[in-house]
Amino acid sequence: MTRQQYAVIGMGRFGSSVAKQLYDAGQEVMGIDIEEKQVEDAELFITHGAVADTTVKATLKSLGIRNVDCVIVAIGSNMQASILTVLLLKEIGIKKVIAKALNEQHGQVLEKVGADWIVYPDKDMGERVAHQLLSPNVINFIELSKEYSIEEINIPENMVGKSLRELDIRANYNVSVIAVMSHGDILISPSSTQTIHKGDILIVIGKKQDLSALTKEE
Ligand code: ADP
Repeated sequence: MTRQQYAVIGMGRFGSSVAKQLYDAGQEVMGIDIEEKQVEDAELFITHGAVADTTVKATLKSLGIRNVDCVIVAIGSNMQASILTVLLLKEIGIKKVIAKALNEQHGQVLEKVGADWIVYPDKDMGERVAHQLLSPNVINFIELSKEYSIEEINIPENMVGKSLRELDIRANYNVSVIAVMSHGDILISPSSTQTIHKGDILIVIGKKQDLSALTKEE
């Protein structure tokens, strides 16, 4: 993966967590906060830090943020500061601005001022937890649209020892197997002769309602 430059504004819980993941993945991460203590606490997982009020255009420009590939605005409780920061970042020409929204209205305003991607951490996490509770076999999922998703699922007991041809998942459940993870190896586009072993993980794509029928198998 090529090394990209990121900036995270607001080193609270959400911002720190994004910064740490990016930093651990070898990316360059600038951490910015209005509070010195927040930047100091983040020093182990940022490439460099800056104490600044990002609602002031001149301050924002002086940070040399213009060359950054992507900026994550993780200011939460101060909605005004979050909105103004996104507006200024787009004004100075940042291509990709991701912003955290507290609620639907906040998200709508962030969209209006040009945020490229809006995340709703509480809402998204709540949905994930509920989804996982309803489908305990689902390890992870990516929502592609309102209708479709990709899911990583534990093999139901009744499928162990059978080949993909025997299981005929596409005909029986109307979903496609895109990969099988077996003992740490990942097989992309597995052949129909592939046998499913205990502990394997299936990566499947399809309509949510069809996936849910598959993940409810035991
Ligand atoms: P979380 O719930 O993720 O902890 P918070 O809203 O509590 O989110 O934290 C957001 C961070 O954003 C805080 O550390 C705060 O100091 C910082 N922050 C708030 N306003 C500004 C601003 N104008 N410029 C830079 N950082 C800011």
